[in-house]
Amino acid sequence: MSILFISDLHLDPSRPDITETFLEFLSNEARTADGLYILGDFFEVWIGDDDPDPHHAQVMAGLRELTDAGVPAYFMHGNRDFLIGDGFARQTGCQLLADPTVIDLNGVPTLLMHGDTLCTDDVEYQQFRRVVRNPEMQRAFLAKSLEERRALAARARGESEASTQEKADAIMDVNQQAVENVMRKYGVTQLIHGHTHRPAIHRFTVDDLQMTRIVLGDWYKQKSVLRVTDGQLLLADNRVEA
Ligand code: MN
Repeated sequence: MSILFISDLHLDPSRPDITETFLEFLSNEARTADGLYILGDFFEVWIGDDDPDPHHAQVMAGLRELTDAGVPAYFMHGNRDFLIGDGFARQTGCQLLADPTVIDLNGVPTLLMHGDTLCTDDVEYQQFRRVVRNPEMQRAFLAKSLEERRALAARARGESEASTQEKADAIMDVNQQAVENVMRKYGVTQLIHGHTHRPAIHRFTVDDLQMTRIVLGDWYKQKSVLRVTDGQLLLADNRVEA
């Protein structure tokens, strides 16, 4: 029994080598797994399920082959691709998951999140998030032409990059209190998330309970995969000490 977790691939036509790496991963490693969880920021940008982008179509066809082969695949939104909708789910056979979601992972109740909501020290981002996650804002955005949406998305990305460069490293990481609060709230001892691009397995104690927080790595320059086999965690990322 082997379950795979990935996030933060930021797939984009500008990095065809990473898309190629992902398609290979789908037809090899993922094909022999018992499930694949994608925890957000799978695409660098997503302006709506009606975007006929050939790069996105190629990635989706790869996912469809995986689910057609009988491997269940699950998708949770990130802060880049939160507009992925039912059209994507229908075409790929992926099941959309709410953020957060609790799953039973080899008998261990495990909380899955993208991770951006844990970065509570970044007050400016949390305000921005509330605006763009507002369903009415999203409806208004999706009602615009593809050209208009593309231009707006490019502008938002530029602004986000500029503000990210000004922020201190610590602000961009998760807040430990926010982590403990959400784990207590959902009654879990294990949390898996991405978003921060700081792959690691953290162990700590809360209320005398041993907690584990696994942070998935990004795919900017390499593949990063968490494999859970019979409760054993293997974070395959060349930036993490084994
Ligand atoms: Mn993210």
